[in-house]
Parts: sequence; structure tokens; C-alpha cells
Amino acid sequence: TAASLRQAVKMDAIGQLTGGVAHDFNNILMVIMANLDALDEEADLDRATRNRIRRIGNATQRARDLTRQLLAFSRRQALQPVATDINELVHGTVGLLRRTLGEMIEVETVLGGGLWNADIDRAQLEASLVNLAINARDAMPDGGRLRVSTGNLSMPAGAERDGISAGDFVVVSVSDTGKGMAPNVLEKVFEPFFTTKEMGKGTGLGLSMVYGFLQQSKGHVRIESEVGRGTTVRLYLPRSSEAASTTVSPAANMERGTE
Ligand code: ADP
Repeated sequence: TAASLRQAVKMDAIGQLTGGVAHDFNNILMVIMANLDALDEEADLDRATRNRIRRIGNATQRARDLTRQLLAFSRRQALQPVATDINELVHGTVGLLRRTLGEMIEVETVLGGGLWNADIDRAQLEASLVNLAINARDAMPDGGRLRVSTGNLSMPAGAERDGISAGDFVVVSVSDTGKGMAPNVLEKVFEPFFTTKEMGKGTGLGLSMVYGFLQQSKGHVRIESEVGRGTTVRLYLPRSSEAASTTVSPAANMERGTE
């Protein structure tokens, strides 16, 4: 549709711009961090100075997190799709999700039987799940439940729904029992830099990253949400015709640097 084309063009332009800036910015931040570390190791500093160093360090760390997200968002060529057992990947990511969500939020998985394999970049899929978990956590400040479920979907040609292309998909649904979104928020969530979170909390890049990743993977992402009830994000991953290759530790993938 015209809207999704506009979205894609906008994402490309922003992606190229931010990728270049983020890369240079990241290098600058590395210099700041290295010098801060050296400073912090000096023995004869008073407490006030140490506190200042710590505060600069924290701010620099936040800036690095942001540039990392920007890099992940703009780095659109580097996908490595491989035939993946999605149940295994979800199972392997649950620990990471639990740590992301904290104690107040229950994490439940409902893994579909006879699940097809999907052609997908595993590290990016995990990063997407973490992004969704962060959003779910922020939507459930008083606790709640996150449910990750998987299943097969065959979209017949000629009877497509919801803009999902014809074909076979492995669907990963991530539901929360959080505050949900009003329609005017929901229609903007995939726009880069759209956030309702306060300064320093959100970048507005999480869902744009997920959107770009799924689009590049020939999949789809759809969101259903109701204020006061919760949100369900569905990732439609293209079915693979191949057997799953051996899985590398999903959590180890997360540690893979951005540069
Ligand atoms: P960020 O999380 O940095 O704000 P995102 O692109 O991930 O950026 O999300 C954009 C906005 O979409 C959020 O600020 C929030 O308003 C809304 N949102 C996303 N996920 C959820 C959710 N699970 N529940 C409620 N609102 C959500």
C-alpha cells in the first residue's frame, strides 16, 4: 500500500542517515569511556569527583545503548537468515526474557506442535523478542503476564487477510496484560522515533527495528491492542523448506557486538 511504501522510504532514509552518524558517534563514546575508566583508576580522587565520574559514565553508557540501537536499526544488509526451529529459539530465549521482565511479570510459553522451520536471522529475532519484552514490561508497571506462543499459519492465495502475503508462516505471538494502546498511538508505533515514553526511557526505535527486520525477512508484523486489556504483537516468519541447522546458543548471539 502507499502508506507502507512511504514507511519503507522513510525508514531507508533515516536508516542511512542514522547509521553513519551512529557509527562515528559510537567511536567518540568509546574514547570518552576509555578515558573515564583511566581516570577512575587514579587513586587519589575525592568522593565528589568520583561521583561525577560515575555520573558521566552512566550518561555515556546510555548514549552507547542508544547508538547501538541506532546501529541495529540502520544495519539492514547484514541479516543472516538460516532455517530455524522457532520453538527451540523461543525456549532458549525465555531466560533472557525473564531477566528483562523482572520478578513482577510472569512469563509463559505455549509452543505449537508440528511447527515448521522458519528462515530467519536468529540474533535479530532474539533482539526483536527482547524489544517486545521491554515494551511489555513498560506497559505493566504493576506486574502481569507475558505469553509467547508459536504456531503455523497457511495464508491461501486469493484469501489474504490483514495485508499478510500468501504463503506459509511460522507465527510468534507475544501478548501482554498491560495498559494497551489507543488507536491514535497504535497507528504510529512503527514510525522511527515515535515514543510515548519520557525522555531517556524510550528511543522510539524498538518497533521500527522489528518492522524493518520482518520486512527485510519477507515476513510481517501486526499488532492488536486494547486500552486497559493488553497488547498482542504477532511476528509472521517465512516458512523454511529446509531442516533446521544446529542452533548456536541464542543467548550467546545477544552478546555479538554491533560493530
Ligand atoms: P519505545 O519503546 O522506545 O518507545 P517502540 O518503537 O518500541 O519505542 O514503541 C513505540 C511506542 O509504542 C511506545 O512508546 C509505546 O507507547 C507503544 N507501545 C509499544 N509496545 C507496547 C505495548 N506492549 N503496550 C503498550 N504500548 C506499547
